Amino acid sequence: MKVCFLGTGTSQGIPIIGSEHPVCLSNDPRDKRLRVSVWIEWDEYSYVIDCGPDFRQQMLVSQCPKVDGILFTHEHADHTAGLDDIRPFFFRQGDIPVYGCERVIKNLSRRFDYIFSSENKYPGAPSVAIKIVENNKPFPVGDKIAVPIKVFHGSLEVFGYRIDEFAYLTDIKTIADEEAEKLKGVKVLVVSALRIEPHATHFNLEEALAFIERIQPERAYLTHISHNMGFHAEVEKTLPENVFLAYDNLKITI
Ligand SMILES: [Zn+2]
Repeated sequence: MKVCFLGTGTSQGIPIIGSEHPVCLSNDPRDKRLRVSVWIEWDEYSYVIDCGPDFRQQMLVSQCPKVDGILFTHEHADHTAGLDDIRPFFFRQGDIPVYGCERVIKNLSRRFDYIFSSENKYPGAPSVAIKIVENNKPFPVGDKIAVPIKVFHGSLEVFGYRIDEFAYLTDIKTIADEEAEKLKGVKVLVVSALRIEPHATHFNLEEALAFIERIQPERAYLTHISHNMGFHAEVEKTLPENVFLAYDNLKITI
C-alpha cells in the first residue's frame, strides 16, 4: 500500500495569507503545507481521506488518476471545501463514493446541495454515491476493509480510519480506550499534532507523542501542522527516532 501526503497543514495552510511569521516566510519546501489530506493506493484501488480547499492542486501535483472514494473525517471546511473539484473524476468515472457519518453527509448535502440533489441538475455538476459510516461497522474499500475509529475534536465526533496496518487520525484531542484498542498492531500511524503549545481541540506535540508511545506503531507521522509548530528541520530533530513530521508530497510504503 502506498500513501502520499497531499497536504499536512492546519486549516489556513502554511504560509498563511499575509503572514510574516518566519515559518510562513521559510524557503524550505517542507514548511509549505496545503490543507490536510492523504491519497492511499494499492493494486488498482485509489482512495483519498478528506477533500479540502487544495484538492484540485493536490490531484494535479500527485497526478492521482482516479478516486474510488473519499473518506471524510468530519465536515470542517479545511477537510471538505474542495468537493466541487471531483468533477473531472466524476466525468470519467461516474458517481464518486463519499464516506462519512450521517452528520457529515447531511452537512455536505446542505453546503453542496447541487452535488447531492438528484433534481434539476446542472449538466456540469458532479454526483456522489453516499456511503454512511457508523462506528463499529467496518466497511469495504476495494478489496480491503476500512475500520472507522471514533475520536473527539473538542466536543465534535470525528472519524479516523484504519486500513490493514495503516491508520490515519486527524483533528484529535481525545479518544476512548475502546477506540484506541482498534489501533493495536498498526505499523504506520498518522496522527495530527497542531503545535507545541496546548490547544482546546487538537493534540499538541506532547499529546501526540504520548499517544504514539501508547499505541506503539513501528513508525508514526505527524500532520495537520500549524506555523506555530516551528521550522520542519528544527522540530524533526527533537522527535523520537520512529516519529517524523509529515510534509507535503511525502510518499511512504506500508
Ligand atoms: Zn482540520
